[in-house]
Amino acid sequence: MAEALFPKLAVIGCGLIGSSVIRGARAAGAVGEVAVADASPQARERVAALGLADRVTGDIAEAVAGADLVVLAVPVMAMGEAARAAAPALKPGAILTDVGSVKGVVAEALAEAAPAGVFVVPGHPIAGTEQSGPDAGFAELFHNRWVILTPQKREDDAYLEAVQRLADFWKALGASVERMDAAHHDLVLAVTSHLPHLIAYNIVGTAADLEEVTRAEVMKYSAGGFRDFTRIAASDPTMWRDVFLSNKDAVLEILGRFTEDLQALSRAIRWGEGDKLFELFTRTREIRRGIVAAGQESPEPNFGRDHRETPQQSGKTTGV
Ligand code: NAP
Repeated sequence: MAEALFPKLAVIGCGLIGSSVIRGARAAGAVGEVAVADASPQARERVAALGLADRVTGDIAEAVAGADLVVLAVPVMAMGEAARAAAPALKPGAILTDVGSVKGVVAEALAEAAPAGVFVVPGHPIAGTEQSGPDAGFAELFHNRWVILTPQKREDDAYLEAVQRLADFWKALGASVERMDAAHHDLVLAVTSHLPHLIAYNIVGTAADLEEVTRAEVMKYSAGGFRDFTRIAASDPTMWRDVFLSNKDAVLEILGRFTEDLQALSRAIRWGEGDKLFELFTRTREIRRGIVAAGQESPEPNFGRDHRETPQQSGKTTGV
């Protein structure tokens, strides 16, 4: 059997994403020993019962000691604290990465916490479901999905090699890898993921607050479009609170544009401007058909189940 890319992997936060990384890495033979640290006793119990790791602990420093690759898979606003707890025990030459959905603040926190000699390479797999916890993960989660790495602005060989090794790791898990500037990542994801989630949370909240339409009616007739929003609005509350608070500027920028467009639609409806509505709906239908034709999406609506991205959508990127 080929040598593992990383003899020892440590995953901090073993929920949906952390446990999927472990399952995928083990299935690919990309890692040797696996250590997990998780703050939740219930999660630790499940990780042990599922046999996901060789060592499970509540102590981050203990888990990362001797690790060649450390993956932080905790909610975005817990990343800094996790990195600080890991820092004193990180091995020189180790790669410290994360899977957080926002990159600007996380990249900064990791860079501040990491000691010299540790390679910090922030990352984000554009793959997920609305489920949480170690039982929800699966080895194929990253198959045919993008992973965006937002490396530091360093050009030395040792660092570039570390970035390449991490890219190879994700490729072994079935993903395609791109490099991107952290700020650009946050803007791209504000459009493709964060705004759609905000809209879903809002529309489901609005329906729940309506007095004239009963909750039973909302459930009964949900196939009219509402059902797909409820799936995305079932996404983890902690994760998404953190995403919006830590990608504030990009989300508010995109939300501003969205609100203007919505006002224009509202005006078109009020004044009976059917041609404007027809023109927009024709344009958006073409976009959807283009995505399906490119083999990047199944024809059925599923944007709540996995927020995958196509290469065409991913903006200014450089292949790794
Ligand atoms: P999850 O299933 O809720 O798992 C997170 C785990 O980390 C939980 O067991 C949690 O324990 C634990 N944790 C929280 N704070 C911690 C800390 N300071 N130290 C150690 N463990 C801690 O979450 P997830 O969906 O895997 O998301 C993890 C990360 O992946 C997030 O940063 C998210 O933005 C990113 N991501 C998620 C998706 C997705 O679709 N879910 C997709 C791409 C990226 P408690 O339950 O006790 O808090």
